Amino acid sequence: MKIAICASEVVPFAKTGGLADVAGALPFALEDAGQDVIIIMPKYKSIQEPKFKISKVRQGASYSTIGKDIKVYFIENEAYFNRDSLYGDKNGDYPDNLSRFSFFSRTALDLLKEINFKADIIHVHDWQSCLVPVYLKTLYKDEPFYKKMRTVLTIHNIGYQGLFNREEFPKLGLDWGLFNMEGLEFYGKVNILKGGMIFSDIINTVSEAYSREIQGKEFGYGLEGVLAKRKDDLFGILNGLDYTIWNPQDDKFILENFSSADPADKHKDKTDLQAFCKLPLKKEVPLFGIVSRLAEQKGLDILSEAMEEICNMDIQLVILGTGDLKYHLILEEMVKIYPKVISLHLKFDDTLAHKIYAGSDIFLMPSKYEPCGLGQMISLRYGTIPLVFKTGGLADTINEKNGFIFDKYASRDLVDTIKKSIKAFKDKKKWKNLISVAMKCNFSWSASAKRYIQLYEKAKKK
Ligand code: ADP
Repeated sequence: MKIAICASEVVPFAKTGGLADVAGALPFALEDAGQDVIIIMPKYKSIQEPKFKISKVRQGASYSTIGKDIKVYFIENEAYFNRDSLYGDKNGDYPDNLSRFSFFSRTALDLLKEINFKADIIHVHDWQSCLVPVYLKTLYKDEPFYKKMRTVLTIHNIGYQGLFNREEFPKLGLDWGLFNMEGLEFYGKVNILKGGMIFSDIINTVSEAYSREIQGKEFGYGLEGVLAKRKDDLFGILNGLDYTIWNPQDDKFILENFSSADPADKHKDKTDLQAFCKLPLKKEVPLFGIVSRLAEQKGLDILSEAMEEICNMDIQLVILGTGDLKYHLILEEMVKIYPKVISLHLKFDDTLAHKIYAGSDIFLMPSKYEPCGLGQMISLRYGTIPLVFKTGGLADTINEKNGFIFDKYASRDLVDTIKKSIKAFKDKKKWKNLISVAMKCNFSWSASAKRYIQLYEKAKKK
């Protein structure tokens, strides 16, 4: 099959979250399974020679190669993409995001023809590439080159929909007839994700639990009705984890490598992390790690509420993340009061992330909702026991055997579960066993890629 993956971020070229991990890893697994894959993404400022080997396709388009022979095509536009960030800056989302990503989507379709890649499937991700299925079935519907192309939309997070004012609609180049309840209109605004959900042939989300949850009011963010109409075409496939990147056995970012067969050296990474974070070098104190966007979705509301009580326990906590200013301020305040308990790093730092996954004892991820979540899978591989709220992908991957899980979203329940984990940590034999079970969990991409291929086959028959 010929598969074109269109995504707004792809590891190793650009990343703000899990979408980039998926868009960068799934193609490898598809290629290994014998599929013909290309990727199309915007060319951001960070994508430059000599860091990446880049060749020209034409003025405005270039490519690099990853895997055995996966071409990653970059759509260029100085004004739209040559910026420091992907979607916004300290003032919020870039005001021209609708124009930026409609340009990306149309140019991606044009590029397929220019390079003569007659895709069986175009696999789009989140709202930023949702206009691809919309254009394919409207503006491009009579073009023979595109006739047999089918689309799969993966929703990584339904909370981000690409909402714009009605006045921007004409910039999409679509007929006003599409601006209604059956189309892209959403309470008087333009909703790009909704367009993708209506026009793509198959929809999936990144865990089975989340695919059920978003059909309900609580997690559907207003789109549950649209999904209800498409429920026969809606599936859930758990993301895999790229174990070539996340492997304690040959991780270059950590002090000591270790494996599930011999995890004894993990404690050296703990000491290294404590030293780096200027925390007391205490082996017997449980070290909690957080690597996360600092947003309510990630449980920062209940965590903030519980913070005082947590800091009064005999623990240490390393936090790496960026996000809402509100949480930056709350956490900075806590560090001032408890400098020997919390080490706070308000930035995006891949190296430190690896050190935290390897050096912590327990990984805190109390997300309010979590489409799939990678942090819990990564930490499992590093023998760092996840403590999570029972939702979405967290519920599909963590249970009493490999972690700690609570099922009422409240700070009290979070605190109680933390206490439970501390108690378990003190029982050396039990803890050793828990680490062993956690490290053996396997969420590799090959199983998920097989399921994606089945979805592509379904879409082809549409
Ligand atoms: P999201 O909802 O943000 O996509 P996921 O758990 O699916 O959450 O994926 C988050 C990914 O981003 C993980 O690989 C995590 O390690 C990484 N990450 C998040 N915040 C940071 C940060 N501040 N520095 C480094 N890596 C981070």
